[in-house]
Amino acid sequence: MDAPLQVSRILGHGSTVHSTAEVVTWTGAEPRRMTYADVGRLSAQLAHALRDECGVTGDERVATFLWNNTEHLVAYFAVPSMGAVLHTLNIRLLPDQVAYIANHAEDRVMLVDTTLIPLLAKAIGDMTTVRHVVVVGNGDPAPLVAAAGDRISVHHWDTLLAGRPDTYDWPDVDERSAAALCYTSGTTGNPKGVAYSHRSIYLHSLQVCMPESFSLGPRDRVLAIVPMFHAMSWGLPYAAFLSGGSLVLPDRFLQAAPIAEMIAAERPTVAGAVPTIWTDLLAHLDSHDVDTASLGEVIVGGSACPPALMHAFEERHNIRIIHAWGMTETSPLGSVARPPVGVDREQAWRYRYTQGRVPAGVEARIVGPEGVPLAADGTSVGELEVRGPWVTGRYVGDEAPDEDTFRDGWLRTGDVGTLSPDGYLTLTDRAKDVIKSGGEWISSVELENALMAHPDVVEACVVGVPDQRWGERPLATVVLREGATVGAEQLREFLAGSVARWQLPERWAVIDAVPRTSVGKFDKKAVRSRYAEGDLA
Ligand code: ADP
Repeated sequence: MDAPLQVSRILGHGSTVHSTAEVVTWTGAEPRRMTYADVGRLSAQLAHALRDECGVTGDERVATFLWNNTEHLVAYFAVPSMGAVLHTLNIRLLPDQVAYIANHAEDRVMLVDTTLIPLLAKAIGDMTTVRHVVVVGNGDPAPLVAAAGDRISVHHWDTLLAGRPDTYDWPDVDERSAAALCYTSGTTGNPKGVAYSHRSIYLHSLQVCMPESFSLGPRDRVLAIVPMFHAMSWGLPYAAFLSGGSLVLPDRFLQAAPIAEMIAAERPTVAGAVPTIWTDLLAHLDSHDVDTASLGEVIVGGSACPPALMHAFEERHNIRIIHAWGMTETSPLGSVARPPVGVDREQAWRYRYTQGRVPAGVEARIVGPEGVPLAADGTSVGELEVRGPWVTGRYVGDEAPDEDTFRDGWLRTGDVGTLSPDGYLTLTDRAKDVIKSGGEWISSVELENALMAHPDVVEACVVGVPDQRWGERPLATVVLREGATVGAEQLREFLAGSVARWQLPERWAVIDAVPRTSVGKFDKKAVRSRYAEGDLA
């Protein structure tokens, strides 16, 4: 049968077949609990409200300015299911970027969390298309009205949904039409929009559940720490509904202490977040007695996961880190590092350090400067290109694929690395972060990983800085463990044990914290400009 793949079917499946699965939202006090059946009913109510009170029709955009919580999940289902387009706005961008993105996407409705009203108030005055704001929680919307005037009507979530029918006759939308929209965080230039179709979301969600990917099933409790505005929380919310696994959502409690509490109290079996979250959590777990026994695997991606972090979690806390790679442009599941069958423990570790293998649905290749494919021999270094049904073919608003990013039906990822004969991808850097020293390339990630293996180094971020003689040389910034006194010379000696001498940084800076991007990655642009000279000879 030619049954279309639609988000409403993911909702239908989860809310009936897995009706008793739970969504838990952390509140700092008693967590809020709902079932998937409740999410089904609330989704219908929200869709009625959006249609009847906010006039949402066709593929109009409904934006979210929300933490990871039940209401965000309801919007994830209601908006695409009614045929409109969900736009997850990154709450950590600067107000002018938020306004730019909302205008570019032509958002009509904005769902905002009470705690984020002050932030949205800084941007909403410049949002030209937003007509309705729905406040989640009891906050005072006055700052929004002051900024946007009578251009917007303000509603409150509870009263807006109350009394509306809890079923909805979901329309038969074209599976190739847009269901959701997410913008890249735009570290260079303006953020670019990526649209996910119903079909791409459905296929991606199925793959996320597969054993070689995140391996989700009804016995799982999924702690989705990665924000729902960052590449759709890596597809975890939709995948949970397909698999029947329950969801634990941290709301705004993203520091190590509450996350540790969530793990002990809500017993997640699997979790997902960028490395910096796990680095902070590791320090907490090392110094507190926390019951983490439920947590079998955590998925770490978004930037390279330092091997030292993987070992620390496994050896000290019996938690297995699974390294994964992806981009906003790839929905984001692109590869997952599970070792092949039949290898010994040591070999398995080496496979797990890599970015992993592509799942069915994604094809990958490494190409040279002119786009000529290179051998998958584990040594030929080039740019990674991928394609597949959940990889975007162009950016929102572009008539044709932009040539810098798309070539012959492939997405140019801007990531540099190798592909092994058995299909494992090893990324050495982003093309723009590779350090070009005297005609040779130095991998900033390799230096960082080596430095983070030093017992006194909590975090290391290495960037290229201009150098008269070599063009560029590495600058190493390090965050040291409290009380540590190790100096640059000792760290250089330590590094010399694993990298070639000519790659050793001459410039060093000890810093309190590595600046982070809006999605919690090392902000190399900020590091470059702030510490260009280093402060240790
Ligand atoms: P942003 O570009 O704003 O950081 P994305 O999350 O889309 O937003 O970033 C995708 C990029 O993140 C990839 O192109 C890659 O450079 C990096 N990345 C993601 N996962 C990994 C990983 N496991 N190892 C190395 N780099 C990664």
